[in-house]
Amino acid sequence: MTPSSGHVVVVGGGVIGAACAYYLRQAGRPVTLIDRGEFGRGCSHGNCGYVCPSHVLPLAGPGALGKTLKTLLSRNSPLKVRWRLDPAMWSWFWQFARKCNQRDMLSAGRAIQSLLVASRSMYDELVRTTLLDVEWESTGLLFVFRTAKEMDHYAETDRLLRSEFGLGATRYDGPALLELEPALKPGSAGAWHYTTDAQLHPGKLMRAWRQVLQTQGVDIREHCELRELVVERGLARRLVTSQGDLSPDQVVIAAGAATARLHRLLRTSLPIQPGKGYSLTMRRPALCPRHSMIFEEHRVAVTPLQSAYRIGSTMEFAGFDTSLNPDRLRLLREGAAIYLREPTTEPVLESWYGWRPMTPDSLPFIGPVPAIGNVYLAAGHGMLGVSMSPATGRLVAELVSGQTPHIDPQPYAVGRRL
Ligand SMILES: Cc1cc2nc3c(=O)[nH]c(=O)nc-3n(C[C@H](O)[C@H](O)[C@H](O)COP(=O)(O)OP(=O)(O)OC[C@H]3O[C@@H](n4cnc5c(N)ncnc54)[C@H](O)[C@@H]3O)c2cc1C
Repeated sequence: MTPSSGHVVVVGGGVIGAACAYYLRQAGRPVTLIDRGEFGRGCSHGNCGYVCPSHVLPLAGPGALGKTLKTLLSRNSPLKVRWRLDPAMWSWFWQFARKCNQRDMLSAGRAIQSLLVASRSMYDELVRTTLLDVEWESTGLLFVFRTAKEMDHYAETDRLLRSEFGLGATRYDGPALLELEPALKPGSAGAWHYTTDAQLHPGKLMRAWRQVLQTQGVDIREHCELRELVVERGLARRLVTSQGDLSPDQVVIAAGAATARLHRLLRTSLPIQPGKGYSLTMRRPALCPRHSMIFEEHRVAVTPLQSAYRIGSTMEFAGFDTSLNPDRLRLLREGAAIYLREPTTEPVLESWYGWRPMTPDSLPFIGPVPAIGNVYLAAGHGMLGVSMSPATGRLVAELVSGQTPHIDPQPYAVGRRL
């Protein structure tokens, strides 16, 4: 079997695993995709659905540490950390702290942008030809600010995004904003409109992926958990799963936040922490927003889908906690009510949480695992997995097949210095 024709097992049926499986299949590979639960029901299910090239800046930047500590002291902060005696979590925050400087922020930003820009243009093609009925809209994204102080403060970020990343937004102040977005209450200072951003329905995206993959002959096995990797002479020879053994030629691990739990199997340290976020899905309000919006000061995101309406966000570092914390859901409602005339509708159709796979530098791990020659990683996409997935999938297929990569894979290397 040559490396360009062998069987590949993709572990993880989220948006990243799905895209990897698709591009591997496009490259002519026989593909089996396994998921320990149901395909598409992890973090890729209830997220906000933004495809947002505007989000180039990593979480770690100058001043981020101080800001984080300040918000942690506030009871109603959208960011919450449940401090535990967990060396992996402390080490993650230490690595995060080391990245809070201008140089690392800009270099991570460039690597984030490469994936975002490539993915954004790939989506244009995918939603036209392959991923049909995903409620694709390209009306852009509004960053809305309540106070003039924060609006002006963001003007500095806008300048940085223009000069360093060539990213321009249109500024709307007070009354002009209400004309653009009548669903907002009067009183917001203004907003910045990123017209390159788009949105889709995450649940429908995953349904479309399942259909496309199955049509193309990908063998999707649900309730099939990877439990052990048998490595001989530096190569993974056998995957032990809850449904028996598999012996592929190559393996792609795309297990989202749970990838960190596989560090022993993969013989490498994986600084990925679950960053828990929540969403509420409802029917559309009568006065539904025309645009997706982020209320920056309260970190609430709104997505007016064609068939529903979603508010989401918040970030909780609480390990793999499976509870639906009512306080976090309340924060979403209260945040939305500050800005919107009709912030929620009843009944709530779905209350949801997901674990974002967070890395300290906001960059995913994409590439070969150092200690095992035929295993690749595609995990750690944090807050941007939907937005980065097509380019990630293509990059993985190129690396696995030994083709020239369409973007430089070096910034995403597994085992990079953090
Ligand atoms: C509230 C919220 C809003 C968000 N909004 C956006 C947004 O607007 N735009 C955006 O781009 N991103 C957004 N994100 C982030 C995005 O949802 C994630 O980055 C993305 O879903 C991660 O995809 P994934 O495939 O890596 O992980 P997942 O979707 O979690 O998939 C991983 C899969 O691996 C499986 N798995 C785990 N371990 C094993 C194992 N041992 N064996 C077999 N299978 C295994 C799991 O069952 C799961 O199905 C948001 C996240 C949250 C929480």
